Amino acid sequence: MPADSRPNSDERQHQAEQDTRADGMDVLITPSGSANGGYAYHDMDKKGQPICNAGDQNTEFKKVEISEAKRLNKTPCGMCKRLREIA
Ligand SMILES: [Zn+2]
Repeated sequence: MPADSRPNSDERQHQAEQDTRADGMDVLITPSGSANGGYAYHDMDKKGQPICNAGDQNTEFKKVEISEAKRLNKTPCGMCKRLREIA
């Protein structure tokens, strides 16, 4: 393993692998990247917004299938997961 490998990436991949929901499910990602947890994908509410209230009015979310989010090396949002678990 190269010294400059990115443990965060491995960790993200591992977390994504733990997400066993159907590949066709819609989730939200932020295409622009770094702002507001751009590495994460979020559960979507009925209004098409992240259930964890990530981002603000300037944040552009993009709806993709969960399989696509994983392909883009996104990881499940921890806050959304927690909200799901207490729902
Ligand atoms: Zn979220």
